[in-house]
Amino acid sequence: MKPFDFLVLGSGIAGLSFALKVAPHGRVAIVTKKDRAESNTNYAQGGIAAVTSKEDSFELHVRDTLTAGAGLCNEKVVRTIIEEGPARIAELIELGMHFSEREIPRTKGARELDLGKEGGHSKRRILHAKDVTGREIERALLHAISHQPNIEIFENHFAIDLITSQKLGYGEANRCLGAYVLGKKSGQVETVAATVTLLATGGCGKVYLYTTNPDIATGDGVAMAYRAGAAVANMEFIQFHPTCLYHPKAKSFLISEAVRGEGGVLKSLEGVEFMDAAHPLKSLAPRDIVARAIDREMKQSGADCVLLDITHQPARFIIERFPNIYQTCLRYGIDITKEPIPVVPAAHYQCGGVVTNVDGETEIGGLYAVGEVACTGLHGANRLASNSLLEALVCAHRAARLVTADPPAPADFKIPAWQFGDAHNPDEMVVVSHNWDEIRHCLWDYVGIVRTNKRLQRAQKRIANLLEEIHDYYWNFIVTSDLLELRNIATAADLIVRSALLRPESRGLNYNLDYPAANPEWAQRDTVLRNPV
Ligand SMILES: Cc1cc2nc3c(=O)[nH]c(=O)nc-3n(C[C@H](O)[C@H](O)[C@H](O)COP(=O)(O)OP(=O)(O)OC[C@H]3O[C@@H](n4cnc5c(N)ncnc54)[C@H](O)[C@@H]3O)c2cc1C
Repeated sequence: MKPFDFLVLGSGIAGLSFALKVAPHGRVAIVTKKDRAESNTNYAQGGIAAVTSKEDSFELHVRDTLTAGAGLCNEKVVRTIIEEGPARIAELIELGMHFSEREIPRTKGARELDLGKEGGHSKRRILHAKDVTGREIERALLHAISHQPNIEIFENHFAIDLITSQKLGYGEANRCLGAYVLGKKSGQVETVAATVTLLATGGCGKVYLYTTNPDIATGDGVAMAYRAGAAVANMEFIQFHPTCLYHPKAKSFLISEAVRGEGGVLKSLEGVEFMDAAHPLKSLAPRDIVARAIDREMKQSGADCVLLDITHQPARFIIERFPNIYQTCLRYGIDITKEPIPVVPAAHYQCGGVVTNVDGETEIGGLYAVGEVACTGLHGANRLASNSLLEALVCAHRAARLVTADPPAPADFKIPAWQFGDAHNPDEMVVVSHNWDEIRHCLWDYVGIVRTNKRLQRAQKRIANLLEEIHDYYWNFIVTSDLLELRNIATAADLIVRSALLRPESRGLNYNLDYPAANPEWAQRDTVLRNPV
């Protein structure tokens, strides 16, 4: 590959939004490990939270975000992202994004944006495209990108590691110079040099046995940044979505929070509503509270799932508002207009990540991170529903503005080609799949919704063994994308466990039975990990 001005790793909302904005200023490479639309973004259902109604205000959206974040948000960052949201939404509409609209009552056919409501939001403020918002965002952004001659997309290309000046042995200040990238079809490792590198690789849901995330979510960005020496914070805060479809044949299918927003009620298998005792907002309580209440209900009753019931709404409304959920459930033999939906909690969102400011700057010169991979301070100890797409949009814009207004000086370092060493073909891929399963089971069993120190320590020991084994395997064999993902989920798992052990309290999504309450001394304290390079 030739050198680029901008190297963008990932083609979700963060990577594509950034690429579009920097394209007029230089040559852009988007490297993405599957096909271009495959991303968490593509599966987002509920929508984007933004203040667009007269009934709503920035102040209320800020308050809801801070409440969900349980004392750990950075209020300045929260305000910036929320206040800049409406302008970014307007740009997305300008690009051709179609949000759902509704007729304004008592007018002759006038229309307005149809705003949804989700858990933890005090107002209707979720802009959505029916229940396929993410798919529509990817469509609109990829369409706009197809008209940009400065942008080249490299599909089926896997970023292995960041190239940094420190790793190459140049001086003190660490500077990112690009990345080594595996062409999955050619099997060749290419060197992609760039003045600016953006990590937009999303989250790490696949670290857990049950997740709403697609297969791409293996924590590659967090692992790469950590190996390169960047600070990673608050990885203990993994959000579990309370309602993933429970069906032996359904893989990671989310039942959007908007179903509860439109009146869906959680019940035990016996039909008893159990959220009344858990929170005043009942089924619409913040996600961590709902997920824990479901976990408790399942543990107490021994049931494999609970039920989400929206059958009291008219069938026409359900089919019109949730066409994707309706059709998908129907394929599994569940008619959601007539019967409740069996659901379980599943790992959904990584609130922590690579430490950045609101402009996406990391501690490493020339390296920026935006979207789920980054930890800006917006989410604190728990993400408010639908704030993540908003964060990605706003921070991608700010990062693009920063690197185009004040670009880092081009780096003049000689970059060596990737070293294969004495690697030979792996003949025991069973080791990779076995270790992969072991990590995901271990995290689910010991580092899930309810934690204890003993469980965390047990997980830490197992992950340390696995990391050692993977390290040997990685250096002895030719790299494959399976092996690279295994190495990355092991690193992400290790970061989650170590961060959870560092926090001696229960706060937001980190619930530890050994410290059942929040410790005021830990309010506003992040758990930060750095790999000494
Ligand atoms: C089922 C589901 C529903 C959701 N619903 C909502 C919602 O309604 N509202 C909301 O705000 N949020 C929602 N979220 C969360 C939200 O979708 C994500 O946080 C957001 O889309 C992340 O965007 P991103 O651009 O940071 O990453 P992603 O969209 O995940 O994109 C990451 C990209 O990086 C690529 N990549 C990863 N590793 C590598 C590598 N090593 N080399 C090359 N490429 C790589 C991937 O292939 C992908 O293209 C939902 C998430 C899921 C899973």
